[in-house]
Amino acid sequence: MTKPLLYDQTPEDLAALLKTWGQPAYRARQIWQGLYRNFWQSAEEFSALPLAVRQKLAEHFTIQPLTPVTTLQSSDGQTVKTLFRLPDGEHIETVLMKYGDPAAEDASSQRRRKKRRTLCISTQVGCAMGCTFCATGQMGFHRHLTHGEIAAQVLYFARQLAENAEHVTNVVVMGMGEPLHNYENTLAAIDLLNDPQGMALGARRFTISTVGLAPAIRRFADEKRQIGLAVSLHAADDALRATMLPVARRYPLDELMAAVRYYIAQTHRRVTFEWALVMGINDTPAQAHQLAGLLKGMLAHVNLIPLNPTEGFEGQGTSPERARAFAAILEAAHIPVTVRLRRGIDIQAGCGQLASRTP
Ligand code: SAH
Ligand code: SF4
Repeated sequence: MTKPLLYDQTPEDLAALLKTWGQPAYRARQIWQGLYRNFWQSAEEFSALPLAVRQKLAEHFTIQPLTPVTTLQSSDGQTVKTLFRLPDGEHIETVLMKYGDPAAEDASSQRRRKKRRTLCISTQVGCAMGCTFCATGQMGFHRHLTHGEIAAQVLYFARQLAENAEHVTNVVVMGMGEPLHNYENTLAAIDLLNDPQGMALGARRFTISTVGLAPAIRRFADEKRQIGLAVSLHAADDALRATMLPVARRYPLDELMAAVRYYIAQTHRRVTFEWALVMGINDTPAQAHQLAGLLKGMLAHVNLIPLNPTEGFEGQGTSPERARAFAAILEAAHIPVTVRLRRGIDIQAGCGQLASRTP
């Protein structure tokens, strides 16, 4: 039996528990701030607490559920991927991407000099959506992460960054798993990190990426939060899309695009469309023109990323020339588009192509 996770407790849970331990109410607040402001990760660090309370915390709860197993750095040092073991022996990966460091200028950071520390976090162990080109999809679905396990990834890196007087600036929910398939836990994790009494990381700093679960997008829209939305489109017609994303059969483009328009109407936020360019498959001028048609007049932005090849998929990444030609068609149709660098490619840390190879 694994112990419950301290990060999974609400402030009310903690207050009630501390009461049963005969402790004053302010102890719960002390613990909260220790966890979410100081990023303490073991009971010993809570030195303001009586020894007996520290011992009880350690006895009853797991504090940091993530044990780093391996950490890989890209050759330019700007991308770091950590493989974590969870208490039940499962594994997930989290990626830290550094942008805007003067010592490591690249094409993207020249434009945006501002120093950013972006985390790419996981929401599930594996994924049930089975996208053919995705390493996580290829491993199948193991389980959902709890909201505390999702938040723990951010807290782990927040602590590391704090040691260099740095902090997490952005979080993209684009690691392993489909966040809208684990809807409550994903939103609860963001709420936890938003908490003004804790880390106070604003909703605008988060972006959720979805494979396109239309009903969940509508539900998300109704919450009218300031969390960003990215939609993995990858194809501009249902037939091609279904060969890459099986879920496209359940939620055809008509239904998906209607849900996205609803999200924009509710939130007035620009939506990002993700497109992994596969050589000769979805990188054709015909697909680009069809995509331009789909997005016409929409508050949208397209992210083009050459596919990172994976073991279970034959397709190859598009050449830079073909990527540029695809982008040019969108630009001519006045659709904002970015061709993404293949960050961290040498450590298999392309966001979304994470999958632990640990048995
Ligand atoms: N499940 C969500 C979020 C995780 S995947 C989603 O599908 O959106 C994050 C992004 O990485 C998605 O856009 C996904 O399509 C993309 N992706 C997955 N495998 C990839 C690969 N091998 N190369 C490039 N992008 C990939
Ligand atoms: Fe799951 Fe996203 Fe990978 Fe599809 S691309 S299998 S939804 S993680």
